[in-house]
Amino acid sequence: MNIEKVLVIGGGESGVGAALLAKKKNYQVFLSDRGKLKSEHREELINHNIPFEEEGHNIEKLIGFGFDIIVKSPGVPNHAPVFSMLNIEDRDIISEIEFGSIHYSGKIIAVTGSNGKTTTSGLIFHILNSAGLDVGLGGNYGISFCRILTEREPQVMVLEMSSFQLDDVKSFRPFVAVILNITPDHLDRYDYDINKYAEAKFKITQAQTAKDILILNQDDKIIADILKSKKINAKVIKISKENYLPAIKNQYGGTFSLNLMGRHNALNSLCAIDVARIFGLSDKVIQEHLLTFKNDSHRLENVAIINDVKYINDSKATNVDSVYYALEAMESPVIWIAGGTDKGNDYNDIIDFVKEKVEILICLGIDNTKLKTAFENIVTVFETQSMTEAVAIAAENAESGATVLLSPACASFDLFKNYVDRGDQFKSAVLKLKE
Ligand code: ADP
Repeated sequence: MNIEKVLVIGGGESGVGAALLAKKKNYQVFLSDRGKLKSEHREELINHNIPFEEEGHNIEKLIGFGFDIIVKSPGVPNHAPVFSMLNIEDRDIISEIEFGSIHYSGKIIAVTGSNGKTTTSGLIFHILNSAGLDVGLGGNYGISFCRILTEREPQVMVLEMSSFQLDDVKSFRPFVAVILNITPDHLDRYDYDINKYAEAKFKITQAQTAKDILILNQDDKIIADILKSKKINAKVIKISKENYLPAIKNQYGGTFSLNLMGRHNALNSLCAIDVARIFGLSDKVIQEHLLTFKNDSHRLENVAIINDVKYINDSKATNVDSVYYALEAMESPVIWIAGGTDKGNDYNDIIDFVKEKVEILICLGIDNTKLKTAFENIVTVFETQSMTEAVAIAAENAESGATVLLSPACASFDLFKNYVDRGDQFKSAVLKLKE
């Protein structure tokens, strides 16, 4: 592709990363954002002499710039009016990830799925990095791919990819792609059509060839259905319960030990193990590094044991599927703190676990109607809008040996800044109990 002028739409982490890479590659670049930029992003653009506009698109100016390609931030939807005003078709837009991949010659490991992306990408990175490979980690995981490429070009790049990041990829070709699961989430961006959402996830493999590898979870019904009709060019490795229940088999007929709890994490680990094997690591080395992995906070994170009651922070569980696995992993009676902004939840899938394991449900949200209706005939229900109070109710009612689990099944925006704020407030309320 002959590129001279790059127009970047959207000035978040990905858009600014793309603009920085474009500048580094000596293209002419202009960044335009409908909203206000964060001050650190504005400063970066100024420091790098990258022209930009914010709080609105000046269409005449953008047309006057005369771009060869548009790089779109994943946060900007395809139907954003700016594209029709510029008379641009989908094929003229590329994603930030694809823009990065055009300028990268190493091997890409791309991980997608509705749940488990951060854990699995982090684990893959940890194993390869600890084994001495030259590896980077980015994408949806903190630093954008393009920004990493402005700093260094590792031989292997692990990319966590959301469906939004996959929406506009065309030639993006990972050497190894992983699809962990496809369960309803973010459906508002996909006309409430799970098939459209699933299609976006499968774009991870569309440009792969027979030299590449696709690892997928064939126990996932939607993935299994798509596989029946979809032509896949890559070599496919199917992960299934056979391999990951109750523990993961190694090549010696034994099993790997993990330091992450839950069957979902066995699945995540098995994907990471397969990737590590593809990169030539022995099971012995893989085992060693599996045990030194520390997951990011807010994912089934052990916070404390106080008066023989265990407190677990799973604030990142923002959908029902992740709560399913959290409850499945619980081994003692549960006091469950849940609630927040409902994203169209259907609680049927977890009713059995709630009956079996939960004694008390503490609803923590502004509108708890749906949660209450689903569970008030099964368990004792409390309601609050304060995390401190939720933890206090839990502590008061917890019997020795119980577990207090924050696993909300909902987004956090009604009462908290984000899931990190929610998890941090939980942790500090729990640690105050200790005092
Ligand atoms: P993502 O990056 O896809 O949001 P995370 O690794 O951050 O995934 O985990 C988000 C939530 O989903 C956590 O509550 C975690 O315990 C749960 N989870 C992790 N892996 C899986 C999986 N394979 N299936 C279902 N839930 C999972």
